[in-house]
Amino acid sequence: MPTLRVLGYAAKAVGQPLVPFEYEPPELGENDVRVSITHCGVCHTDIHAIDNYYGITDYPFVPGHEIVGDVSAVGPAVSGLKEGDRVGIGWQGRSCMQCEWCLKGEEQLCMDIVPSGTWVPYGGFSFSVVVDSRFAYPLPRAMPSQVAAVLMCAGITVYSPLREYLTESAPKVAIVGVGGLGHLAIQFAHALGWEVAALSSSPEKKEQALAFGADRFIETNNQASLRQFDYGFDLLMCTASGGMNWEALLMTLKKKGRLVLLGFPDVTLNSTDLVAHQLSITGSFLGNRATMREMLAFAQDQGIAPELELMPMSHVNKAIKRVKENKARYRIVLVN
Ligand SMILES: [Zn+2]
Ligand SMILES: [Zn+2]
Repeated sequence: MPTLRVLGYAAKAVGQPLVPFEYEPPELGENDVRVSITHCGVCHTDIHAIDNYYGITDYPFVPGHEIVGDVSAVGPAVSGLKEGDRVGIGWQGRSCMQCEWCLKGEEQLCMDIVPSGTWVPYGGFSFSVVVDSRFAYPLPRAMPSQVAAVLMCAGITVYSPLREYLTESAPKVAIVGVGGLGHLAIQFAHALGWEVAALSSSPEKKEQALAFGADRFIETNNQASLRQFDYGFDLLMCTASGGMNWEALLMTLKKKGRLVLLGFPDVTLNSTDLVAHQLSITGSFLGNRATMREMLAFAQDQGIAPELELMPMSHVNKAIKRVKENKARYRIVLVN
């Protein structure tokens, strides 16, 4: 009997364009579901991983971790999902379920996080993927699949710290970067009750930032206007990938304020203000399962949706090129 094979798009070596790639479908573990992919968003980390920026990429590498599709097979121990159910899947496709972090419900910090990525063995730029059913999230019925796809990584990445660091009285956040992550962060922050400033080096993004819900727009290259906000924010959320003047940005934090990094920018700074103002710098990675479910319901309830472009899955290299050239507004979703 011929084995059914899966078609995906893989990088065969560092930095190579993706090529059609056929592979044996991974075996279904007892808690696993197989999902027939309809949509997959393109995230910056897909592109970094093609280039082996994190040093963890195995080739052939099928990227893609903003996945929406329909369950096509369920393992014997799966509960709560059945064939035909529409689900969303993010970067994390499984976890060990027994380390200290998993037991605390912080699965995104699982000690086995690298082998738990959805791209192990093969990710969402494909027709099918196998993940642990506990990381396949049923979607609100009325939520369009392309919207859900982007929320599975970009959405949870911004929602999780905005929720965690939300304070009771008049919290003020500055969101650095109005791109794939930033434009969603503005929407979520506004809906959660933060007073929101959007910071960008591109003045042409002002009107859209305000339309997404920002209360003000600050041009980061204009030091005079930036300095008007010294000691202004409780939280500075950096969604941009580099080229920041960190010391100038840290000046806008209130004493004891917090800078949270969402991408993987290089950070170099003089530590004087960090120490003297008792500031914190922290990272935030994905979100746990409870927060993922909460984020999906909140986004649906508040009408939060990414701006996106749809492209056929077969145009994956074109999509990657647009993201690399910073031309995507603001996210591209590939459709099978
Ligand atoms: Zn991502
Ligand atoms: Zn674990």
